[in-house]
Amino acid sequence: MKKIAIIGAGPAGIEAASILASHDCEVQLFEKSADTLSNITDKAFLFPDFSSAQELADKLNAKLLNDKIKVILNTEIVDIKKDNDDFKMIDRDGKTYVADKVLITTGYNVFDAHRKEELGYGIYKGVITSLDLERMIRHKQITNSIGEEPEKVVFLQCVGSRDEKSGNHYCSKVCCVTAVKQAIEVRKQLPKAQIYVFYMDLRMWGQGFEELYREAQEQYDIRFVRGRISEASATFDSRIQIKSEDTLIGQPLKMTTDLLVLMVGMEPSKGTRTLAEKCGLAGPYKFIASVGPHTNDNNTATEGIFVAGTAKRPMSIRDTITDSTAAALEMLK
Ligand SMILES: Cc1cc2nc3c(=O)[nH]c(=O)nc-3n(C[C@H](O)[C@H](O)[C@H](O)COP(=O)(O)OP(=O)(O)OC[C@H]3O[C@@H](n4cnc5c(N)ncnc54)[C@H](O)[C@@H]3O)c2cc1C
Ligand code: SF4
Repeated sequence: MKKIAIIGAGPAGIEAASILASHDCEVQLFEKSADTLSNITDKAFLFPDFSSAQELADKLNAKLLNDKIKVILNTEIVDIKKDNDDFKMIDRDGKTYVADKVLITTGYNVFDAHRKEELGYGIYKGVITSLDLERMIRHKQITNSIGEEPEKVVFLQCVGSRDEKSGNHYCSKVCCVTAVKQAIEVRKQLPKAQIYVFYMDLRMWGQGFEELYREAQEQYDIRFVRGRISEASATFDSRIQIKSEDTLIGQPLKMTTDLLVLMVGMEPSKGTRTLAEKCGLAGPYKFIASVGPHTNDNNTATEGIFVAGTAKRPMSIRDTITDSTAAALEMLK
């Protein structure tokens, strides 16, 4: 029987744990938080089908009801050391755990919007992130800076992705379709609001995404403007003024809005960065590097250590689960 350690109980870690346990492996699943799936239960509804995030979390958690899986919560793994044929996982308190093979599924954190000072996050209450909006949608309480229903909501794409200043040149892949999903949710809760999405270009790469984008325009009256917002500031009546350029017609634009939603990108989580550095597995932008993009995408440079999900690069839940299934099969070889 193989002894497997999985670090991170998000969708990737849970899916792999359930497959490996059903193939007679003994699995230790480490999670630094008090509960599993924190990057799922902080969402309201999920693209592409508007299904409930909580229902998905319940389904995934049910996969952990297997005697061969031991979920170890409140345990942050900070290092992995090779010890003859075994691996030793070391937690923040110095306690060690032993396994034959290790899967890293430590996932992502969102870009810290404070780093884009010119957009006013943390300075003006009317500037929020896509994660803040998820919370408002979940509680059916979308409000402006003075607690009133907003008349206008503006989304800004690519905050902390495809961006020279933050050093993140990559595309975070999920935020275009997340903006479309959220704009539709806002329309459902605020039928009279004007809703705009400012984009560089829209990347609707997944099945059903392009249709959702069309629906957003045709059924939900959401307006898409090709342009980048360079600056946000407050007005006397607690609204937000934005400066931008409509790059399709080549004209500078000024607009006031009640809410400016920053579509923050994905970065490697602190856990991903720490393990990438400590274990010498860091790839571009400190995500964990796989050996190759085609046939070895779940192997790392260290034999016996594998990687899956957003610890490797930005991806959706569907792609994360497919990727962790592939990782589990690779680990069974
Ligand atoms: C605003 C936003 C909205 C989104 N909406 C959708 C959507 O509608 N549909 C969709 O398909 N995708 C959506 N996504 C993407 C989705 O969140 C990810 O695809 C998914 O969470 C990736 O799963 P994962 O297991 O790779 O990583 P994560 O979900 O990040 O899980 C990683 C886990 O590892 C734990 N961990 C980290 N470091 C350590 C450590 N050192 N030791 C132990 N545990 C550790 C973390 O606490 C976490 O529980 C959205 C993303 C964002 C930013
Ligand atoms: S998915 Fe869209 S918003 Fe996100 S970084 Fe890529 S282009 Fe920008």
